[in-house]
Amino acid sequence: MNTTATVVLAGVGALLGLLATQAWVAARHPGRSGGSPIATALSQPEDHPNVTHTHKYSKSGYDVTPLPRGQVEELASKLSPEAYKVTQKAGTEAPFCGNLLDNHKDGVYCCVVCGLPLFSSEAKFTSGTGWPSFFTTFDRDHVVGRPDTSLGMSRTEIECARCDAHLGHVFEDGPEPTGLRFCLNSASLVFYEQGQERPAASLPVPTETAYFAGGCFWGIEHYFDLGDGVIEAESGFMQGHVEKPSYEQVCDHNTGHAETVRVVFDPKVITYERLLQAFFDMHDPTQVNRQGPDVGDQYRSGIWYASDAQKSAAEAYIKKLTEQHKYTRPIATAVEAAKTFYPAEDYHQDYIARTGRMCYVKNPW
Ligand SMILES: [Zn+2]
Repeated sequence: MNTTATVVLAGVGALLGLLATQAWVAARHPGRSGGSPIATALSQPEDHPNVTHTHKYSKSGYDVTPLPRGQVEELASKLSPEAYKVTQKAGTEAPFCGNLLDNHKDGVYCCVVCGLPLFSSEAKFTSGTGWPSFFTTFDRDHVVGRPDTSLGMSRTEIECARCDAHLGHVFEDGPEPTGLRFCLNSASLVFYEQGQERPAASLPVPTETAYFAGGCFWGIEHYFDLGDGVIEAESGFMQGHVEKPSYEQVCDHNTGHAETVRVVFDPKVITYERLLQAFFDMHDPTQVNRQGPDVGDQYRSGIWYASDAQKSAAEAYIKKLTEQHKYTRPIATAVEAAKTFYPAEDYHQDYIARTGRMCYVKNPW
């Protein structure tokens, strides 16, 4: 090969790399360029408002906290040579050879290294390429995309979000409704048929739910959402006597509801007692039917317990605060059995995170 040809090829390679990088930047920042189907379908770090969390949870309730490198190495050491080569060395199995290519059973395809569910049989289709193909992920928080310019091509590599195992690639030539083709190596997956028992690593995190009313729910929801071990915080209405109340109805003071935050949490990471502490740190429990600038019975302070254990813990915590003389006035927080939780309208959810507006509620963490 002469020098000119080498320079031209190097230039083409650099251009391909640049285009791949630009495509990836555009993919990660859809607001800047209109986005791409691949970016919409995959997990992006910016999607997680709680990036400072030690623990991360997916929308479908799985623990997707990145595993420490040492733990991944230990798990990988038990793999077959083929699965090791694919997942740890970004290998590619020969087409039409994988054991899951012609699998048409109903079930879920999990990461062969860490067990995280990655794809569902509902999204599997026959692509004719020789590799198992899916048009969408099990949960977009479970699969990460990275630019891959190896072999002189501009592609998007896909990895397990929890253990970084290489899975395959994703292309924009798939069927409706996504137009995507997730091209998998069978060796990166383990299949569990519907009804078959799955290991804990392939199941959602067991959760508990707690309910707190501490004035305007915007700030209370925002700060509960930031707690490590909190899977989801949602604004809503509780303890009233009207079904499915609207915000306007609640503000008219005729429904009896209190603005309430439903907190779904991982009890292995955060305790109910720690949530109680955060709740009292966030608001003034001595105010009656008001909180800060907000006045009305929908802003009353309350703990709506979901179990006898929560009731005992809440009463004991209030007793402790009272005995410590933490407040100069009596604690007005009601402790009642939880009635039906009605989620508030969408525009109330994640209000602080979406609008950037601050609020009088104190950060309890
Ligand atoms: Zn994994």
